[in-house]
Amino acid sequence: MPLNAQIPSGPLAQKWEQYKFDLKLVNPANKRKFDLLVVGSGLAGASAAAALAELGYRVKCFCFQDSPRRAHSISAQGGINAAKNYANDGDSVYRLFYDTLKGGDFRAREANVYRLAQVSGAIIDQCVAQGVPFAREYGGLLANRSFGGAQVSRTFYARGQTGQQLLLGAYQALCRQIGLGTVKMFPRTEMLDLVVVDGHAQGIVVRDLVTGQISSHAGDAVVLATGGYSNVFFLSTNAKGCNVTAIWRAYKKGAFFANPCYTQIHPTCIPVSGEHQSKLTLMSESLRNDGRVWVPLHKADRAKPPAAIPETDRDYFLERKYPSYGNLAPRDISSRAAKEACDAGRGVGPGGLGVYLDFADAIQRLGQPVIRDRYGNLFDMYEKITGENASQVAHAHLPCRALYHGRHVGGLQSHEHAAGPVRHRGSQFLRPRRQPPWCQRPDARFGRWLFRPPLHPRPLFGHRQTPPPGHQPR
Ligand SMILES: Cc1cc2nc3c(=O)[nH]c(=O)nc-3n(C[C@H](O)[C@H](O)[C@H](O)COP(=O)(O)OP(=O)(O)OC[C@H]3O[C@@H](n4cnc5c(N)ncnc54)[C@H](O)[C@@H]3O)c2cc1C
Repeated sequence: MPLNAQIPSGPLAQKWEQYKFDLKLVNPANKRKFDLLVVGSGLAGASAAAALAELGYRVKCFCFQDSPRRAHSISAQGGINAAKNYANDGDSVYRLFYDTLKGGDFRAREANVYRLAQVSGAIIDQCVAQGVPFAREYGGLLANRSFGGAQVSRTFYARGQTGQQLLLGAYQALCRQIGLGTVKMFPRTEMLDLVVVDGHAQGIVVRDLVTGQISSHAGDAVVLATGGYSNVFFLSTNAKGCNVTAIWRAYKKGAFFANPCYTQIHPTCIPVSGEHQSKLTLMSESLRNDGRVWVPLHKADRAKPPAAIPETDRDYFLERKYPSYGNLAPRDISSRAAKEACDAGRGVGPGGLGVYLDFADAIQRLGQPVIRDRYGNLFDMYEKITGENASQVAHAHLPCRALYHGRHVGGLQSHEHAAGPVRHRGSQFLRPRRQPPWCQRPDARFGRWLFRPPLHPRPLFGHRQTPPPGHQPR
């Protein structure tokens, strides 16, 4: 199988617009003749199913949870980036494109990243229209905050529960289509195999997890929106269900799998509490907006309570090493710097594997109520898991450590028509018979340690669905 990305030609900023125009449209009456199978109903799958059904296609959607609302997307905390430049701090489509490309170590497909930046604003609009309760300023305008790896404020968020709120929005859109009869939902159903005819995905075999009954479903295109595989890593943020079963089965049927080790390491999580633990809990990177990261300057001070260590004996290593980004240095850089400090014997907390995230300055500057308002649910989560009094911690020093995070840039290979780029957590379109499918998902999974693109595939799905020239429904 030749690896041909089939990136549209032309200048970067016009590639997709021209490509969209070149594609033939399908008239509404013909859309009803196509059957589409969507495996997965997280942010990616639920949005794809709802958007495709809204367009008029006949959709079947499968997931192994008892409800689409249980998809692991629910755990996403921090937010979603868009180049709306509400903060008037110099943001632009090109800057989001550039930051994202850089955050992905320049490995992503530029055309896809550019498209993602181009449609980022529309994604926020769509989410708002669906009722996602993004944070707002006092005057009612949507609020923005900063995240690692960016020097502008472009992250739209719903406290520390952005994924949950987005999923509820997508779920409602999906439910609407289920109610209209355009999507048939199959919860508690696991995809066991992919049906491939003449090299093209034409169906799936599934098992009903309640009755054990096995059945097969035929379709003109198969969408694998089956999430990440980070469960393969010890102490990751991913649920046991993020088990790569669907894309593994596609791989067994001949699809290519790329870059499985390309997984994000996140610098802020709740430290491990004992040997019984195989998962870690993320604390949103938003905490680094106001929290300052430090370790004791001298090894001997490690065991001291943090408040007993004077400023002069602290090493605010991110501010020292990366003054232009400070505590908002990109995730990989921050994680690596924290590891270096721990390897040098200056780590704190259990096993000396943590660093402090300190809110004392921010509390002094803004007051406890403001900090509580911004991060209260994250402090509560910290308290529930560690048993440490959150307000005490918030007053002072929240230990944190790096972890494998639920973002995976590896996944099934596909080309631009089929899915955008290869790299993603596994949510992919597979080629239908004849021509590539008509569902573009320019997800551009650049994402090492970046800033928010993973929540984007959701509305991106809704942006264009056009069958390839000459495609006939089954
Ligand atoms: C703790 C945490 C915080 C995060 N924070 C952010 C953030 O702030 N911003 C951001 O942009 N991203 C964030 N992410 C990443 C983002 O949440 C995910 O990348 C994204 O939600 C994945 O969506 P998905 O629809 O591809 O996968 P999922 O939500 O995991 O959905 C997968 C779906 O596939 C189904 N499935 C899987 N295998 C099978 C099978 N064999 N048969 C049938 N169904 C199957 C499942 O049932 C499920 O419905 C975070 C992730 C985590 C874990």
